[in-house]
Formats: sequence, C-alpha cells, structure tokens
Amino acid sequence: MASGKIGVSTKDLFPIIKKFLYSDHDIFLREIVANAVDASQKLKVLAQRGEANVNIDDLCVRVSVNKEAGTLTVSDNGIGMSREEVEKYINQIAFSGAEEFLEKHKDDAATIIGHFGLGFYSSFMVSDKVELLTKSYRDGSQAVRWTCTGDPEYTLEDDSRDERGTDVIMHVTEEEKEFLDENKIEELLKKYCKFLPIKIAFGKKKEWKDGKQVETAEDNIINNTEPAWTKKPADLKEEDYKSFYHELYPNQFEEPLFNIHLNVDYPFNLTGILYFPKIKNQIDVNRNKIQLYCNQVFVTDQVEGIVPDFLTLLHGVIDSPDIPLNVSRSYLQSDSNVKKISSHITKKVADRLEDMFKKERTTLEEKWDDLKIFIQYGMLTDEKFAERAQKFILFKNVDGKYFSIEEYKELIKANQTDKNDNLVVLYANDKEAQFTAIQSAQNKGYDVLLMDGQLETPLMNQLEQKLSEAKIRFTRVDSDVIDKLIEKENAAQLSLTTRQKGDLEEAVRSQLPKMDKINFTVSVEALGEDDMPVVVTQNEWMRRMKEMSHLQSGMSFYGEMPDSINIVVNGNHALTTKLVADIEAKTKAQLDPIYADIDSKSARKGELNKAKEGKKDEEVPQAEKDEMDSLNKSIDDLNAKKQDVLKSFAGEEKLVGQLIDLALLSNNMLRGEALTNFIKRSIDMMK
Ligand code: ADP
Repeated sequence: MASGKIGVSTKDLFPIIKKFLYSDHDIFLREIVANAVDASQKLKVLAQRGEANVNIDDLCVRVSVNKEAGTLTVSDNGIGMSREEVEKYINQIAFSGAEEFLEKHKDDAATIIGHFGLGFYSSFMVSDKVELLTKSYRDGSQAVRWTCTGDPEYTLEDDSRDERGTDVIMHVTEEEKEFLDENKIEELLKKYCKFLPIKIAFGKKKEWKDGKQVETAEDNIINNTEPAWTKKPADLKEEDYKSFYHELYPNQFEEPLFNIHLNVDYPFNLTGILYFPKIKNQIDVNRNKIQLYCNQVFVTDQVEGIVPDFLTLLHGVIDSPDIPLNVSRSYLQSDSNVKKISSHITKKVADRLEDMFKKERTTLEEKWDDLKIFIQYGMLTDEKFAERAQKFILFKNVDGKYFSIEEYKELIKANQTDKNDNLVVLYANDKEAQFTAIQSAQNKGYDVLLMDGQLETPLMNQLEQKLSEAKIRFTRVDSDVIDKLIEKENAAQLSLTTRQKGDLEEAVRSQLPKMDKINFTVSVEALGEDDMPVVVTQNEWMRRMKEMSHLQSGMSFYGEMPDSINIVVNGNHALTTKLVADIEAKTKAQLDPIYADIDSKSARKGELNKAKEGKKDEEVPQAEKDEMDSLNKSIDDLNAKKQDVLKSFAGEEKLVGQLIDLALLSNNMLRGEALTNFIKRSIDMMK
C-alpha cells in the first residue's frame, strides 16, 4: 500500500473546501456525475475509433445510497484510471495564487471549483471520507483503491475489482445527512442531470403491487440522453418540440406559441431551443425560465444579465461548451463569450420573427396578441432588436385587422396627414370606453388602432422618436375633438358670435361637477352637425405622462397631477343652437346692460392705455392710475354679475346639466349620486 500527500502548494485545501464552500453544496453531485459521464463518453469515442475493444452498449452511470453505511456512491463503467492516472489526475492539483483567490471568492463555491478544476474534490463538501475505486479499460490493468479522509494524506492500494470503470464512494458527514435521502438525491439528479448524454440510473423503477410500492427489475433512468435540442431541426416535428417543452416544464399545461431552434457552430458553438410561451399571468413569467447548459450539463436558470433582458421572458434551453460551467453569475455576465452569445441569440430571434412575417403571415397574426408583449419589451430594452423589429411588428386596428408599420403608413397617408404634414395615427386603448370617439373617427373615414397592451404607451413614444423622419404622431382617439385630432386646412367654421360662444361656455362651466383629482375645462368648438353635441377629451401628452409614471420610477410627479378633462360643446349642433337661443331669450334683459357697461368701461380703459403709451410709469398722472384700478375692479364685478346671471339660467335649464352628464356618461365617468341625479333629471325631462 502506498500513501502520500496530495500535491497542493497550499497547506490546507480541505478545511477551505469545507469551511468556505458552504453555499451551493448541491453541486458536488453534478460534478461527480459529470466526471462519470465524461469517463463514459471518452470510452465511447475510443471504441468508435477502434482504439478500445469494449462493449459500449451498456454504458451507464449508477447512483446509489446506502443508509446503513452512510455512503453515497456514483459508479460508472467508463474509461477508468490506472494507478499512474490516479496519481496524475487526482493527486496533483495545479495551484498557484490559491490562498488569495480563495479568500476573495470564499462565498462562491462554483467559482472556486471552476477555477481550480476541483470537480472531484467538491465531494469533500459533504463527506469526511471519499474512496475512489477504479480500473482502467486497458487490458490487464490493475484496479486501485484511493482513500482520503479529508486531509492532504491519502492512501492508494491495489484492489481486486475486475470490472472496468470507477466508483466514487462518499462517506457523508453527520451535518450533510440529507444527501443520504433518496428523494433529495433524485431531486438533485433531475435538476442537474436531466439531459446528460449517458444514462443515469438511480435505483429501480417502482410499481404498485397489492397496495404496496415494489421495485421492478427495470432501472430508474433519470435522464433523456438525446434531448431535442441536440438533434437536427430537420429530424424534428412540431409534436417533438411540443413534447420536449412539456418535458422541460412538467408543470406547464399551456402549449408554447412557437419555437426557435438554435444551431450555431461559428463563431462559437451553440445549440438550443427557445419557446415563446403563452403567458396567462405573472406567476407563469417567474416559474419557468430559460435553462443554460454546458454540454448537456445544467449550469443555471438564473439567466438575467446573461441573455438579453427580454429573452428572460422566453422559455427553453441554451447549450454551449463556451458557457463556463463553474463560474459565478457576475463572472458569466462579464464574460465576452457570453456577451457574444447573447447578441447572437437576439439576432436569431429577430431572424425567425422576420421570416415568419415574410412566410407565415397568417400564423404570425394569429399569435400576435400573445406574442406582442415579448417583442415590444424587446424593442424597449434592446436597441438592435428594436431596429430589426420595426420590419415585422404588427399593429391591430379596432376591427381586428393587422398591419406592418409600412402597410399602415400607406393605409392612412391620404386621409390622416394633417396640415403640418404629420402622419397622425389614431388609437384607442379601450374599445368600449372610447366607443363614441372611435365611431366618430370612423365616420370621418379614419382608421383607429387598438393599443391595449401594457407596453404600448412607451412603445408609441419610442416609435415617434425612431420614425421621426416620417413625422408620425400617435394620438388617442378621444384626446381631442375629431376636427382637431387631425387638423386640416378646411376645418369646419363656428357660426356663433363671440358673445354667444362666451355665454355658452360660461353657462356650461357653471354646472360642472366637482370630482376628486379632476380639472375640468370647457370649450365650444366647430364640429360637424352630425357629431355629438358634447364630447369629453383628454390631453394626449398629459395622459401619456401619467400612464408612463406607473411604469417608470422618477415620473411620479406626473402621476400625482389631476386628470385634465376638457368638455367640448359642439357649436354647430342643433341642440346647441337651441340652447344659445334660449340663453339669449332668457338673459338678454339682464345681460345687455352689463355688456354695455363692460363695453364702455373697456373703451375708457383703451383711452387710458393710449394716453399712457410712450410714458414711463412715474410720468403717468396718479388720477389716471386710480381710474384704471377702479375700471378693472368694476369690470371684474360686472363679469361676476354676468356669471351669476348665466349660472342661475343654467341651473334652471335642465339641458345644460343633461348635456354635461351625457358627455361624462359616454366616458364612463358618471357614477354614484351623479348618476342617480342624471337618471332623475332624464325622467323629469321626458314628462
Ligand atoms: P476536471 O474534471 O475539471 O478535469 P476533476 O477534479 O473533476 O477535474 O477531475 C480530475 C480528473 O480526474 C479528470 O480530468 C479525469 O481525468 C479524472 N477523473 C475524475 N473522475 C473520473 C472518473 N469517474 N473516471 C475516470 N476518470 C476520472
């Protein structure tokens, strides 16, 4: 029997492994099983090349737990090791600058293991003694047993084992006893080893017999050695992709929308399948994630910062030998290979979508409503993707028709270009609530898009900037009266006098309801005779700022602002004409003298102002200044009087309140007591 000291330049490797590597203990199993798989694959390659005369049909890695002995064993019938190979591969650990590195990364087991190639030694994270029993595949080779109890001393002796391959027997410590629990081991194997390329057996399959679970003779194979992403796309059918999806996410019952099979061999190796999932709710987003593999060994499903932000919403797998297996996330994020991979994936996703746009337009349209959130999120977070996506994103109008940006521009160019040459895209984000506005836009021959997604407000901002050379402006269909939404040269004219318009506005203003966090304004505009008598509009810019404030921090200022709602009276509607006539008839007697008084006082003000022209303030006689002050005050008083007259008229005249309420009602803003009052008034008016 030989004994010796493991060749490390640092005195105490084992205490470090045990003491510092307290996080991620789980990964030791992946390391040991991955070594066994490697050893099996090496043998397979040798056999295929005719360099090893062995039967490779039964290659299998077996994992077993012996509770009584307190051991966890990983066995393979792979390449095995000779005594010299154990000396070379197990006993010598290349180590330089070790202490410093360990100190720096003491909380990060994965980084340490990766840095030193300590895969095998990670077994000491959970064991106080590890035995390695191994026999090389070479004819006549002598089996050996290496034993180490967690200090640098080891023993190496001949063994009577006569099958080729390696057993790693881990004597699990008292504190890590959970690794003797079969359920725990099965769970870990399923997490890390689910798609390893060599069969992994964990005990036997069980079945129910006479009300009891009994073991069958069949091995309980943990993994699928040929997962779909390792196959050629030409060999896979739609069904295969779907069933692989459910294999990846057994708890996901929705079918994916579609998939992208990645198969790159230059400038790096990358395979994988990405799925666009059908997301029902927030929980779905967080539950299933993209999984990263390195040669079919699971690395992580924490891919934030590794793949582009918007791809973290996708499902599927990415496998690349260029993704370092044992490194921390921060390392992965800064790795230049990983960065290249990430931008390459973005490109592939864009390619696939563009292809779909060109060749499978109907399918794209069918899936668009579910897909758009991913694509829009991609556009908002990834500049390159945004550029590409402009070619294939779709807009849906309120009638359910889909258009590309170019097609849509073409559609609306003739009718929706305003007098300043802006192309005005009208949209609604609630078909029901904005029904009236949509209808009046459609009556005018305009098209209205449906923008009801969560990300569409910021997306519109982005498009307005990006498509700036085309001068596109998005305007919600109810943000102004129809003739002002898209201002044309030949706008309708108002047939009211200034006084009629002013009095009408005043009468309506006097009857506005008081609502929390809402500022009302009133204006009389020239709309078509067939348009509504009163409409409610909401300033586009303010509303968008408010909407954005929900999505972005730092914009809460806008969120706190009251809504500004404009009540627009159609000056050309028959009801308005009637109302104007009424105002005149019922207030003339009172208002004529007030107007006359205001007029004469204003005229006097004009004279005073004229006299003041060219004079410095101190040159203006005090008497004139005093007169001016008193004129201003009188005019204010007269205006207040005028308002009182109009208010008392409007209070009596049910039509005013009725029109305001109708406008609010059509915007779903009439509730509670106000709604009841409206109903009562309506009944009164019908009597
Ligand atoms: P790495 O796998 O990164 O090289 P490890 O410490 O995990 O580092 O293993 C060191 C070496 O020991 C391996 O490269 C391999 O040559 C050998 N080895 C480990 N486990 C086995 C095994 N089950 N069968 C054959 N050789 C093995």
